[in-house]
Amino acid sequence: MFRVHSVLIIAVLIVGVINSTSAQQKLENDRRYNAITYVQNAFEYQMLAKQAYRLARVQLETGLADTKWSADEFQIEADDFADKPPAVILDVDETVLDNSPYNARNIIDQKNFNRQAWNRWCKEVKATAIPGVVEFVKQAEKRGVKVFYVTNRDDELKPATIENLKKIGLTADKHNVLTRNEQAGRGDDKLSRRAMVAKKHRVVLLIGDSMSDLCSGMGTKNQKQRNSRAAKISKMLGERWIMLPNAAYGSWERAVPSGRDALRTER
Ligand SMILES: [Mg+2]
Repeated sequence: MFRVHSVLIIAVLIVGVINSTSAQQKLENDRRYNAITYVQNAFEYQMLAKQAYRLARVQLETGLADTKWSADEFQIEADDFADKPPAVILDVDETVLDNSPYNARNIIDQKNFNRQAWNRWCKEVKATAIPGVVEFVKQAEKRGVKVFYVTNRDDELKPATIENLKKIGLTADKHNVLTRNEQAGRGDDKLSRRAMVAKKHRVVLLIGDSMSDLCSGMGTKNQKQRNSRAAKISKMLGERWIMLPNAAYGSWERAVPSGRDALRTER
């Protein structure tokens, strides 16, 4: 009898170990796992973010000294900005606020992005600061530069977003946090909101984790147009446009083929 009991206990333990190993494996096989563990654990990620904001602080000074300098393509074309007071435009998510806990929860619960759940996360006001951003914003404000946050968070999230930005030590109110659809014609494309800032300010820097935070027109599938856009990017990047890393999500995902087609075994 004792022997039968021992065998049963061992069998249950083995099944338990196998189950927890396969649950662990399932988590690690999630396509988002590496991206989120990198943000949450790798010192290298912190260094990349701090490096971006250190560059931003240097370029801010360069841009302030040159009244012919603008980071906004349409403002450059209009050439009407030399006398306007300086401003910088930052995206919010994964540029200023770290939302990796929301994605970590989704990986653990095996859920995809969901607008309602995302809105609930934002209303928790628990996002922390991306490394380097607070120091950058403080420097900009000290130099008299107006800081705008252009975000594709829903307009109903504006109060929570303002509260979260304040919580990490930044100055935020309804005038410098520009949400999606806060007015008609201010949809996903951030172009109209950048134009609104550019109307009264010289845009010294654009900072984001997605190309759409910096320019428009990258959604095209026309190769020629894309190449011409890319040429402009190489001119602005690291000088007037500062990019933060985000391997977890972004508009780039839409252009990636599915499954095996996204992998190249030769370049
Ligand atoms: Mg973002």
